[in-house]
Amino acid sequence: MSLGARLARLIAATGPITVQHYMAEANMAYYTRRDPLGAGGDFITAPEVSQMFGELIGLWLADIWTRAGRPDRVAYVEPGPGRGSLAADALRAAARFGLCPQVHCIESSPVLIAAQRTRLPDATWHDDFSTLPDDLPLLLVANEFLDALPVRQWVRTGAGWRERLVTMRDGRFVPVAGDQPMDAAVPAHAQTAPVGTIIESNPGAATVVAEVARRLAAQGGAALWIDYGHAQTTPGSTLQAVRGHARVDPFIDPGMADLTALVDFAALADHAARHGARWLGTVTQGAFLAALGIDARAAALAQARPDQAAAIHAAHQRLTAPEQMGTLFKVMGLAAKDWPAGAGF
Ligand code: SAH
Repeated sequence: MSLGARLARLIAATGPITVQHYMAEANMAYYTRRDPLGAGGDFITAPEVSQMFGELIGLWLADIWTRAGRPDRVAYVEPGPGRGSLAADALRAAARFGLCPQVHCIESSPVLIAAQRTRLPDATWHDDFSTLPDDLPLLLVANEFLDALPVRQWVRTGAGWRERLVTMRDGRFVPVAGDQPMDAAVPAHAQTAPVGTIIESNPGAATVVAEVARRLAAQGGAALWIDYGHAQTTPGSTLQAVRGHARVDPFIDPGMADLTALVDFAALADHAARHGARWLGTVTQGAFLAALGIDARAAALAQARPDQAAAIHAAHQRLTAPEQMGTLFKVMGLAAKDWPAGAGF
């Protein structure tokens, strides 16, 4: 039975489900069965656009590790590593500076674990953050991981705030406001928002960022969270679905498209600080990559491979131009309090 049919039955039997439940089921089904990345898939991520992305991340890691005194034992950690391209490119670049960490992946998709195994033969895989080693500093990189975690949504009605739920009407999934008062769940500043306003929170993202912040405080290390999102908290539903490189309706065919929501970096930075990490900053991907020297790296690659110069130029633009990935994508840095500041923030 398709996920859509299963959810329709569930709703018929027990009533509407939360947007969070719908998104969690949809993405679990979506990622379990396929490799969604690349030209033949549903979407392309920065590490799949060009090796330059992972290489510059590797240099960032090597730089902060060097200034932290080059601890011998250190772990590279990547949640949601996709095809393993970012890790492979970053670790190759970092090794040139003597940084050769243990490699730990957190991944739920068997299809993607198989792909990662071919690129990262010596890595260890984990189902969640709880089994990561706890006796050495962590260098964590997450690209387009937080945006795939399910969000809760609340909608302001004439009778106050309600959780946004998904029900069935005429054979289609539709979002509706729930019956239960939810005013206590929304922040004080939102209480007076106009009727129809939607706000989101991402409890899964908050949980993993808090866990990483606690580990950075206890173990040392640094983390880069890269995702498309807002630097400042902004109201509105940001739930979207992408299939075959096009936007589709998130309420049609759950499990057949990638569902994402924008990441609220301001909320996560506060959360990380409350759990003991140092917030290094949140900047646009374009500014971050420029600060790390992407212009020089692109020029060097194009000089070495003149036949590839046009493709390298296109990838450089795609990663950094404001109308492409340069502005919508943000990079948030965290570190242990006794680790140095990071480059590019
Ligand atoms: N970082 C990669 C892939 C991004 S797609 C890249 O940039 O190319 C999202 C990744 O997160 C996939 O690897 C997906 O399987 C994984 N993922 C999504 N939800 C997850 C969860 N709850 N636990 C672990 N991995 C998850």
